Amino acid sequence: MTTPDAGHAPQTPQTPQKRWYEGGCHCGRVRFRVRINTPHALACNCSMCAKKGMINLIASAEDFELLQGEEALATYQFNTKVAEHRFCTTCGIHPFSRPRSHPDGYDVNARCLDAGFEFLEIAPFDGQNWEASVDSIR
Ligand SMILES: [Zn+2]
Repeated sequence: MTTPDAGHAPQTPQTPQKRWYEGGCHCGRVRFRVRINTPHALACNCSMCAKKGMINLIASAEDFELLQGEEALATYQFNTKVAEHRFCTTCGIHPFSRPRSHPDGYDVNARCLDAGFEFLEIAPFDGQNWEASVDSIR
């Protein structure tokens, strides 16, 4: 008889306001988890996010973990080439980026969360006028 593995997630008590959510790309090669501290997300209207239908969930580096699929990810960059838009080379989905606004953190595509994104409060972000808007989210 074997003891079931408790899994990779530590069994720590979590408040409803701060817990880990898992997500991934469409084909399943890329899997991640993100710790959501407050249920606030952004809908950016920049040229990239608009075409992706991105719901932006900003997370610090310690609140994001790539569980698998680094080898499946490619990086797309444009304009200032600061942000690193990561996408799955198999299914084409963009699960997250390293954003220009938070280069040490992550911008998770909340549409890739397993739990969906309906529990998030979504505020508009005027990424078309990035320089004038960015102070509001830093
Ligand atoms: Zn994929």
